[in-house]
Amino acid sequence: MSPPGSSGPGPLDILERFRKPRPRPGEQCEMCATEIGTEHSHVVNLESRGLMCACRPCYLLFLPGGAAGGRYKSVPDRCVELPEATLTRGDWESLQVPVGIAFFFFSSTTGEVHCFYPGPAGATESLLPLDMWERLRAAEPLVASIEADVEALLVRAEREGDPASYIVPIDACYELVGYLRMYWKGFDGGGEAHQAIDDFFAGVVAKASSPVRHGAPPWAPPNGSL
Ligand SMILES: [Zn+2]
Ligand SMILES: [Zn+2]
Repeated sequence: MSPPGSSGPGPLDILERFRKPRPRPGEQCEMCATEIGTEHSHVVNLESRGLMCACRPCYLLFLPGGAAGGRYKSVPDRCVELPEATLTRGDWESLQVPVGIAFFFFSSTTGEVHCFYPGPAGATESLLPLDMWERLRAAEPLVASIEADVEALLVRAEREGDPASYIVPIDACYELVGYLRMYWKGFDGGGEAHQAIDDFFAGVVAKASSPVRHGAPPWAPPNGSL
């Protein structure tokens, strides 16, 4: 876990490398230079950890398990609500996440499950114990289906009861981190940050409850485009 406000190389680097400015309409595919609109998908460069804006043909080339695998991996666009108690209250409390939201993804580069949650510095990282990840995977087939590097387990916990869990595209998580960096103030985040988080989850819930729309962005951000 990195101390709040720390600077220089640190665990958040894994996030920094994913971040990039929002594209403008008419931006080019970063793989083949074809013009793409605001509604486009993303491909992760596993070496640089860069998130690249991609046209549909390039995106299809690098879907997980696709013919062109290797250095690049397309971010799937599914959004799935997991059964209740996928992560129990006890699991959640053992993680000692100070706020009611976190996301987890397995990095094939580091071999670890990275956990990010909102904090005074915008986003804070810790690692999920691998034994807990393996237990969650063994207990719920959908958790086992989460694609390394490009999908995340997103969790929101209320004050009581088991947290709600979702599978979301990794680029949606980085959008969330962007909102937190923009809006999070002080220890508890303040009203703007909580509104941004509420809007984000409204988008996740809407996407999770509707059929997958191929060609659509991973999810609809509250203001503007990916
Ligand atoms: Zn392209
Ligand atoms: Zn993009």
